[in-house]
Order: sequence, then structure tokens, then C-alpha cells
Amino acid sequence: MQIRTKIAMQFSLIVAIILAVFSYSFYYFSENFRKQEFANRLTDRVVSTTKLMKKLGITEQDKKKIRDANKTTLAKLNAEKVLVFNSEDKLEYASYEADSIKYSPKLYKRIRQKRYLDTTIVGEQIIGLIYKDEEGKEYVAIASSNDTSGKENLIKFRKTLIISFFVGVALTIFLGVLFAGQSLKPISDMNREIKNITAYNLQQKLSTGNNHDEIAQLAHNFNQMLVRLERSFELQRSFVSNASHELRTPLASLKSEIQVALERERSEGEYREILQSLLFDTQRLIQLTNGLLQLAQSENREKSVKFQAIRIDELLFEAQEEVNHQNANYQVLIDFDEIPDDDEWVTVNGNDALLKTVFTNLFDNACKYSADYKAEVKIKFNQKNCIISVKDNGIGIPNEEISKIFEPFYRTQNAAVYKGHGIGLSICRRIIDMHKGKIEVKSEVGQGSVFTVLLPHL
Ligand code: ADP
Repeated sequence: MQIRTKIAMQFSLIVAIILAVFSYSFYYFSENFRKQEFANRLTDRVVSTTKLMKKLGITEQDKKKIRDANKTTLAKLNAEKVLVFNSEDKLEYASYEADSIKYSPKLYKRIRQKRYLDTTIVGEQIIGLIYKDEEGKEYVAIASSNDTSGKENLIKFRKTLIISFFVGVALTIFLGVLFAGQSLKPISDMNREIKNITAYNLQQKLSTGNNHDEIAQLAHNFNQMLVRLERSFELQRSFVSNASHELRTPLASLKSEIQVALERERSEGEYREILQSLLFDTQRLIQLTNGLLQLAQSENREKSVKFQAIRIDELLFEAQEEVNHQNANYQVLIDFDEIPDDDEWVTVNGNDALLKTVFTNLFDNACKYSADYKAEVKIKFNQKNCIISVKDNGIGIPNEEISKIFEPFYRTQNAAVYKGHGIGLSICRRIIDMHKGKIEVKSEVGQGSVFTVLLPHL
């Protein structure tokens, strides 16, 4: 069911309930009022009759006079009867010519008990009361009549209420659908606009109108989400094109080396030399694809990575060994700024393999971009973090490029002559983010750089 219909239905249901309650109350009070008014008139009639009886007596002549007086003084009620019964329940007086009229003895009994009774018997309203004559004799005086005109009016009133109820509900449904449709129009417009947005036209935005309501807010937030998506799509696209470019260069060089080798017959020594060079290029290619794989994995394996307590000093020594193993010229010097008293200060919550990747990258860069191939590593602590700084005396990073070096494939101008693909630092930053840590850099061209990593303790 559409929201528009749902809102209109709920609104109409509420109005219908309110209308029904009001109509019923009107009807109920009108019916009570009619009964009460009719009872008052009957009471007047019976009281005036008994007064006359007291005044005139109850001979046949008196009765006739009372009947005539009643006819002239009071408005005639529909089929009105005024009857007076003595203590033996025998009819003493009737407002019309009647020989024997009897009600059930139970009725006389009830009137005698209650002294005043207002009741309805077979559609006739009956008022009964007790009247005492001069000698103290008790009589039961009854006035009865059928309020046909009052009842007819009430039936008409009920019909009017029922018709007004249905007309009111129909009108509410109509207006509800109309207004709900109007209020939800911006959402329908938004739906239509969203249908036209695909991965290829993310720059298209939803119109937010001049309003500042919730729907405009929703459109605004949706637009912001589109901007984020566009940015991430752009990153993906540039990643793929950069990655294929990086892969194409070593592959092209492999191809040309093989082509040159095949141009003529060569000696065994020459073949060996060519194969050696091919092996070197293949190793670079493997390194690059490993890097790309790591970068791609770090994007989406955040949840599956297992964290554990790691002693940061041990991890740094392992990374040092790995860098030395890969390049014997490189020198990584590790130094504790101060020896911690507590073992927990050297412990961080992390993933061993990923953190080792970070520090081998940083050590490798520090040595690679320095003439002395040296990296100085310092470990410090504070209550929250382990702070590891990697310092070199290398080429440094130009100020205007420093913010870009963590982007995938970015290489500074002055690093062009050094081998590399510009993906190591972007992997480092992803990994440090996963560990809820921080990586910062300070650098001066020609002087060197300091990379600082902050990793929270357990
Ligand atoms: P790569 O070193 O393979 O090019 P990285 O992602 O590790 O890739 O580094 C990105 C860029 O940051 C490098 O190309 C270089 O320009 C700069 N850079 C990183 N570390 C240093 C450093 N220690 N000294 C100077 N420049 C550096």
C-alpha cells in the first residue's frame, strides 16, 4: 500500500471514530432529553389532575369537569391517558370514557414503593405517583402516552446524523488523499529523480527546493552520499588505471628484453645474463602485484582481520631483519627512548603481519631515499599510545606534496629517479587506520624525513 493511501486511511479512520463518538453522544443526549421532557409533561398532567380531584371531589360530575379542565388547560399529548386507582387498585378516575382499565398489579406495587415512577411499557411512557385525599386515603395516579412526534423527530435526527457521518467520512478520505498526495509529492519527485541516477551519472543531484523540512534534508543528505560515492568511484577508476599502467611498464620491458634476446643466436653466457635480468624484472613485477593485492585486501578485509596483543619492540626487530635480508646495504638502527617499567606499555592491540608490512615499508623507504641508506628508529610511550618514529637523512618531501604521499600511486617529483610504485604508504595508512592509530610525517627537502606512527595500547 502506498504511504499516501496509508496516511489518508489512518487520517480518515481517526476522523470517522471522532465523528461516530460525537454523533452517538448527540443522539444519546437528545433521546434522554426527549424522554425527560416528555416525562415532565406527563408529570404536570398527573399533578394537575390530582390537584383538581382534591379540589372538586370524585363524583361523576366532578370527573367530567376535571376532564374538561384538562382538555382546555393542557396541550393534548398523543393518546394521553390519566388514570387514578384507589387502594384496591380499582379505577377511580380516567381522563377518557373507560369502564375498566387495568395495569399489572406489579406496576401499582412499584409506584407505591417508589412514590414516583418513570417507566416505559410496550412503547408507552408511564409516569406514576401517589396522591392522598383529604381523608388521607392513598391513590395511585398514572399518566401515560406515546411520544410519537418526539420519536419521529428523533428518527429523523438519527437519519441526518448517519448521512452526515458517511458524507463526512467520504469527504475526509477525499481530502486526506489529496493533502497526503500533495505533502508527499516531493518524495515522489525524488523517487523519479533517483531512478535516473546510475554509476555513470553520479554527478546528477536531487533538487532540494527552497524548503528546510525533513524531505529537503533527506535530499540534501542523499546528495552528499552521491558526492561520497562519486569520489570513491573516481578513486576506484584511477586505481585500476594506475595499477594497469604500473603493471604494463615492467611487462613491456620484459617483452622487449625477450624480443632483443631472440633477434639472433647467443652464447650460453649471454642467455644466462638475459635470464638473470628477466628474473630481476619478474621479481619487481611480483613485488608490485603483491603490493596491489595488499592494498585491495586492506580495503575490504577490515572485519576479518584478527587482532591480538603484540610486543612492538619484537615486531620492529623482525621488520628490521626482513629489510636487512632483502637489502644488505640498508641499515636500520632501533633505539628505546626510555625503557618502560611496565611490559604493557610496549604492547599494542594489532595484527602481526599487517603491522610488520607497515614498518618494513617505512624502514625500506627511509633507507631507499637516503644516500647513507640509514634509518633511525625510536620507540617512545605514553599512557595511550606506543609512538614509533622512523627518521632518515634523505632527500625529504616537498611541502606542497606532503599531503599527497599517502594517496595510492602518488610519487613526489624528487623521487622519480628512485625505484618504486607509490603504493607502500597508502597501504601503511590503511593498516594504521584499521588499528585506530595515526601516521604523521615531518620533512624538509634535502635534510630528511621523520615518519611517526601512534598505536594505541591494549
Ligand atoms: P614508493 O616508495 O614505492 O614510491 P610509497 O608509497 O612508499 O611508494 O611512497 C610514496 C612516495 O612518498 C614516494 O614515491 C616518495 O616520493 C615519498 N616518500 C616516501 N617515503 C619517503 C622518504 N623517507 N623520504 C622521501 N620521500 C619519501
